[in-house]
Amino acid sequence: MSQVEQVERGYFGEFGGSFVPAELQNVLDILEEQFLKYKDEPEFNEEFQYYLKEYVGRQTPLYFAERLTNNAGGAKIYLKREDLNHTGSHKINNVIGQILLAKRMGAKRVIAETGAGQHGVATATACAMFGMDCIIYMGAEDTKRQALNVFRMELLGAKVVAVSKGQGRLKDAVDEAFADLVQNYENTFYLLGSAVGPHPFPTMVKHFQSVISKESRNQILEKEGRLPHAVVACIGGGSNAIGSFAEYIPDTEVRLIGVEPSRAATLTQGTAGLLHGFKCLVLQDEKGNPMPTYSIAAGLDYPGSGPEHSHLKTSGRAEYVAVTNEEVLEAFQALAKVEGIIPALESAHAVAYGMKLAATLNEEQSIIINISGRGDKDVEQVFEMLKK
Ligand SMILES: *Cc1c(COP(=O)(O)O)cnc(C)c1O
Repeated sequence: MSQVEQVERGYFGEFGGSFVPAELQNVLDILEEQFLKYKDEPEFNEEFQYYLKEYVGRQTPLYFAERLTNNAGGAKIYLKREDLNHTGSHKINNVIGQILLAKRMGAKRVIAETGAGQHGVATATACAMFGMDCIIYMGAEDTKRQALNVFRMELLGAKVVAVSKGQGRLKDAVDEAFADLVQNYENTFYLLGSAVGPHPFPTMVKHFQSVISKESRNQILEKEGRLPHAVVACIGGGSNAIGSFAEYIPDTEVRLIGVEPSRAATLTQGTAGLLHGFKCLVLQDEKGNPMPTYSIAAGLDYPGSGPEHSHLKTSGRAEYVAVTNEEVLEAFQALAKVEGIIPALESAHAVAYGMKLAATLNEEQSIIINISGRGDKDVEQVFEMLKK
């Protein structure tokens, strides 16, 4: 076993950093150097903007949800429609950014982890479009539960590797992907899907997802002539939330609110600890082992959280709240019935809290709820739950 190294870069207060074996640290150092080299380069950004527009379909609307507003009774509710992106969620924003970086680094082979399959599908999609080899690591248990998503990735030309080590879940898939990267870093790029992991991943994912708040800030100023009272987003690893918050962080009058499942309430209830090579608020037992979590939204079922969210929480700049599965199911149906929009179960967490919040505010105020994805993937599960 090689020595564990700590890198000073990539800290958000006391959270973040990089606690990984030396050979992996070498690979992450190269990645950081390349990311810093390209992130502000005009040619790189032109290409990024081109694919966001022509392939993903950006910009996404900031939609005034008038009937939902009337239903909630209070502040104007605006929905940032990330569900309208190609592949149906915000994940593709980060995938396009990282794959352009992979191309410049000369990688021929892209690997990624996936839990329920959303990030795997987005990565397989971009690899098909760029003609890259694609390998997706997925827990063996998850490949059984999400057989259709496995087929979808294969249809897109990816190879799905079922990981049966450990519990055969997301955590084991991440471990396998890092092991692959260490072995094959000369031709391989690890395209991580959320604002978690060792530096530079949280910083890089935030950079590419910030397009959400860059757009919404301009859009709300155009529509309302002033900034919103609050921005509300759901939290799994934290990528759609940090992308929705990023441009408002300096605007301290704008409340930033992350919404978690009550039984995976990492930021509301967690304590500082180490997970997957970085420091964050974690749900852990006395021995520091991650605790089992449960959410009806597979994308939010993670015992850790992005390091920047951990810092925004402890510094008081952002607020984190939890909602129950029952509230989420109600919000899922409410948005479908009054606005004709079926949200992902993940996004329905933000809708559930957003509606409660709007009711406490007045008509002069506005809030933005990030609809991170569409709910087509969830209708069968909701059908089964409502039957009971
Ligand atoms: C993956 C996913 C999430 C959770 O991930 P974050 O990194 O917290 O954004 C939320 N919503 C949708 C639709 C997802 O696919």
